[in-house]
Amino acid sequence: MDEKITRIVSSETTNNGHSVDVQFQVNNKTYKIFFRTSGDTALSGNLESHLASVLLPCMKTGGGPLIANGEISSKFNAGLSKIQDIYCSWKYSLHRAQIGSATPTLKTRPSAKRVGTFFSGGVDSFYTLIKHKEEITDLIFVHGFDIELDNTRLREKVSGKIREIASGFGKNLIEIETNIRELLDPYVPWGILGHGAFLASIGHLLSPVFRCIYIPASMTYATLFPWGTHPVLDHLWSSESLEFIHDGCEASRLKKVGLLTEYDLALKSLRVCWKNSEVDYNCGICEKCLRTMINLKVNHGMDRCTTFDREFDLKQVSKIVINSPAKHALMLENLRALEEQQTDRKLQKALRKALNRPEWKKKFDRRLKSLIKSIKKRCP
Ligand SMILES: [Zn+2]
Repeated sequence: MDEKITRIVSSETTNNGHSVDVQFQVNNKTYKIFFRTSGDTALSGNLESHLASVLLPCMKTGGGPLIANGEISSKFNAGLSKIQDIYCSWKYSLHRAQIGSATPTLKTRPSAKRVGTFFSGGVDSFYTLIKHKEEITDLIFVHGFDIELDNTRLREKVSGKIREIASGFGKNLIEIETNIRELLDPYVPWGILGHGAFLASIGHLLSPVFRCIYIPASMTYATLFPWGTHPVLDHLWSSESLEFIHDGCEASRLKKVGLLTEYDLALKSLRVCWKNSEVDYNCGICEKCLRTMINLKVNHGMDRCTTFDREFDLKQVSKIVINSPAKHALMLENLRALEEQQTDRKLQKALRKALNRPEWKKKFDRRLKSLIKSIKKRCP
């Protein structure tokens, strides 16, 4: 069988650290990946960042050899081995990468002092920012993470809000634009695997100035499942000088929303919708928007929240498609809280209807949804 070679072909940091261009080769295909920033904080291309970018494509195409020349942090190198153990246990189609040529070495940087957090404007981001607001110096917002690069209207809208948040909390904001999903998306699913490696890659580009970067948790300790950012995984991307911390698994989404309702700025800028249409900041009708609106209602913050583009619609709640155990747990949490408060009986009833929908109806809804999606794709 032919070996499928993966290679970091070239890496160039230019424009006073405002641009990093990396060329990767994965099984004869070439990918030109860029990272751009416009602020005061420079980026710096390095092997840790590039290996985080290309590890999963290499594992998906048979494991290499992965050719990477240069020095690599010893701690990061040890972490890569465990990361691959975890990835392989989650996805049988992945193979361990044979990483050659890189020389493990101690990489310490006493000058790196700042503490960052990845920040999207969502519930998890706000929770970590508020929890560590004394320690965090920088918010890191990445264009090309969940909003497509060509969706410039929404990007500008979101970017404006994130600037307001950073200024309101007295934090420096770093905005980075990248097309790295062009390398990851053809090989691995974004949610289960891709986005964690993506964040690790960005984090290492900032390693000359950061000693620590928080990665806000999506789940609680009670609801963990394989996911690109994960408490067993994220810290393994660390080097001697840069520590990644997965943060917030102790708090339920309801508790997180409760904390952010204490901050008007959060209620005026919260962004949770993953539909990312050109026109809506939060569509107000998707499962995630509705779920968060209920969280806000339970925490008496909905009336002060100004970021949903439609009024809360009770009828839509009973129609929510709950298609995973995690979403079921999140909705049940809302219902239990309302029952305990003995408030909003109509909302309780709508939630029960959504939660108790028969299995055949769920299957039908799922098929209908995927059919509509494929028709929309064919006839945009
Ligand atoms: Zn939405």
